Amino acid sequence: MSELWRDDYLSWGRTVRARHLVSNPTSQALAAEIVARSPSVLAYGCGRSYGDAPLNPGGRLIDCRGLDRIISFDGQTGVLTCEAGVRLADILAILCQPEADNGGWFLPVVPGTRFATVGGAIANDVHGKNQHRLGTFGRHVSALELARSDGTRWICSQNENADLFAATIGGIGLTGFILNATIQLQRVQGLAVEAEDIRFNNLDEFFSLAAESDAYWDYTAAWIDSFAKGRSLGRGIFSRARRIPGCAAWPPALQPRIALPPMPPISLIRPFTVWAFNAAYWRKSSFRSRSSNTGSYENVFFPLDAIADWNRVYGPKGFFQFQCVVPPPAARDAVADLLRLTARSVQGSFITGLKTFGDVPSPGLMSFPMRGTSLALDIPNRGPPTRRFLAQLEHVVMQAGGRIYPAKDAAMSAASLRQGYPQVGTFIEHIDPGFSSALAQRLALTSATR
Ligand SMILES: Cc1cc2nc3c(=O)[nH]c(=O)nc-3n(C[C@H](O)[C@H](O)[C@H](O)COP(=O)(O)OP(=O)(O)OC[C@H]3O[C@@H](n4cnc5c(N)ncnc54)[C@H](O)[C@@H]3O)c2cc1C
Repeated sequence: MSELWRDDYLSWGRTVRARHLVSNPTSQALAAEIVARSPSVLAYGCGRSYGDAPLNPGGRLIDCRGLDRIISFDGQTGVLTCEAGVRLADILAILCQPEADNGGWFLPVVPGTRFATVGGAIANDVHGKNQHRLGTFGRHVSALELARSDGTRWICSQNENADLFAATIGGIGLTGFILNATIQLQRVQGLAVEAEDIRFNNLDEFFSLAAESDAYWDYTAAWIDSFAKGRSLGRGIFSRARRIPGCAAWPPALQPRIALPPMPPISLIRPFTVWAFNAAYWRKSSFRSRSSNTGSYENVFFPLDAIADWNRVYGPKGFFQFQCVVPPPAARDAVADLLRLTARSVQGSFITGLKTFGDVPSPGLMSFPMRGTSLALDIPNRGPPTRRFLAQLEHVVMQAGGRIYPAKDAAMSAASLRQGYPQVGTFIEHIDPGFSSALAQRLALTSATR
């Protein structure tokens, strides 16, 4: 097992640069041993979190990617047990293959990237485009095993060590090291999907389409033109999809299909390119107000995974993602305010996503989704002006009673975390004193026993 000081462990937004002592254990026993002998430790999945959640500057990171074994799978019940470093792409490739009738098993919840690990998906309790139907990833985890820094190992589920289980689902990696997990896969009648893209002209049309679509479609989300103002504020393209019974689809590739050249010395994302991309994307769809297609789920679920390391186009300073959810009845006005601020700023947002969340409860104390409307913005890092802009967005969300997603965030204040996550006090009691992260330090999250 290698153990080296390295400075190339970054999160997806690439805004925090630091040295880490990195261990690459290849067995659960070794991982548990490292946890027990480290004063400051954190697990690192695939670094697909945009913010600072997977980083532990000056401390130890345990890279989970050597813990990549599927331990068991029951083809009758769809119950899967695997090590925490198994990627969602690996599960899709091995277990989500078409059966004779073109039905099969599928991961009930996938985020917008299949290159996340099971441990990372649990620690952030990720959601997908079907959040309104099936809730978060953690809802489908029946048990997990946790290694703590005092040398103990805990089996946790809704029935066994339930408090630690609730703290670990969405627990941002701070309650211990997830060694393995058992997940209930979803039985589906077909692996292919029928998908529709519908153009809408403003925010009110978005809300109508979302209300209509969430009732009949399994997967829904929208892209928004972040530069549109006035009567066009919130215009975009609404995407919805559902499975086609009896139709097969093969799993997507295990690696991205397109590679980018090495890191550019400056950001390629300038205000003009952001504006031009948004305008072109809107125009692309404006010849027809509705288009549909059927086939593989790859482009619908994982559109950004096609290009390897696309985050490097933001240059050495990286970028922030800001994702929030705002509950009704304030949601419509708050989203309008956030979009107005974005359209007015010179920052722009390269890719802007909007989705309605349902009220399927999350099992985790710190899980992000709640009933309301969720907005995600990608914002190039231009230093202090960008931080001031993020603070303005945060203020709107807090005034509207919403919350910000820690998995995506690298800038929110400790006060906003406490306001948005009322159970944070209980969560802190379960933080392992041997665990630390850049996020935990920024948000003053420390164990009561430390
Ligand atoms: C293109 C793209 C699209 C995305 N779309 C979505 C989306 O639709 N919905 C959504 O919810 N998220 C989305 N995300 C975010 C991503 O799914 C989550 O951040 C996910 O948690 C990343 O998993 P990872 O394995 O890369 O973990 P990392 O980013 O490496 O780590 C995330 C957290 O998990 C902890 N962790 C990892 N492994 C373990 C372990 N074994 N034990 C304990 N803690 C552990 C880390 O300490 C850290 O706190 C997207 C990200 C990208 C890049």
